[in-house]
Amino acid sequence: MYFIANWKMFGGLNSLNSLHKVIKFFKTFKKNRFAKIIYCPPSTLIRPMTKKLKLTSIEVGAQNCHEQESYGAFTGSINPSMLKSVGAKYVIIGHSENRAAGETNKIINLKIKTALKSNLSIIFCIGETLNEKRKKITKKILTKQIQLGLSKIRDKKKIIIAYEPVWSIGTGLIPKSNELSEIINFIKKKNRNSKILYGGSVNSKNISELKSINNIDGFLIGGASQDPKKFIDIIKKTYN
Ligand code: PEP
Repeated sequence: MYFIANWKMFGGLNSLNSLHKVIKFFKTFKKNRFAKIIYCPPSTLIRPMTKKLKLTSIEVGAQNCHEQESYGAFTGSINPSMLKSVGAKYVIIGHSENRAAGETNKIINLKIKTALKSNLSIIFCIGETLNEKRKKITKKILTKQIQLGLSKIRDKKKIIIAYEPVWSIGTGLIPKSNELSEIINFIKKKNRNSKILYGGSVNSKNISELKSINNIDGFLIGGASQDPKKFIDIIKKTYN
């Protein structure tokens, strides 16, 4: 199971102290060989975090990247090979917060292709808005996001798909078990070689319900991942 921590735009150098608890827990956790922890901090923390996690099996990823492979005049942007050079092994692409800011399926597709060339693994986010859910077009939206986002990408082994309903992110709401199960199986059928994660308001209370859903390969965790106690609780309860 994957436990991917998305810190979003939170955290300074002192936030790295919170990793000690997680490192200590994970070292002695009896089921640790079944779990993969990946931290995706703000880019400013990738290098120091990689150093802190050097002697552990915990890995580090970035939260976004630019679609161009080479350097260029793109103020504020970072390309995948730059992320790789500071220790990132993964990159989140297509997060709904970036889609909402104008990132299109086409740009997402270019970013994924470039990141794969730099040998990064991809955490590819898809999900429907509340309005799309109400209109009952969730499957249509997900199919389009996958078709366009992964267009002309043959080898999908390095692609982890995170199903994150937009209405669930940061709201405390999660899908009903039967609905989530249906969606996860729907995505899995079309993407047999990819791991499929769920993301959106995962916490230590709802994890018992979420972990029992068939075919889920792990979780993308936002808010709760910034608190080491909550994050550890989620991991522990997944294996209870
Ligand atoms: C996210 O933004 O990827 C996410 C899952 O956030 P949260 O867990 O806070 O809903």
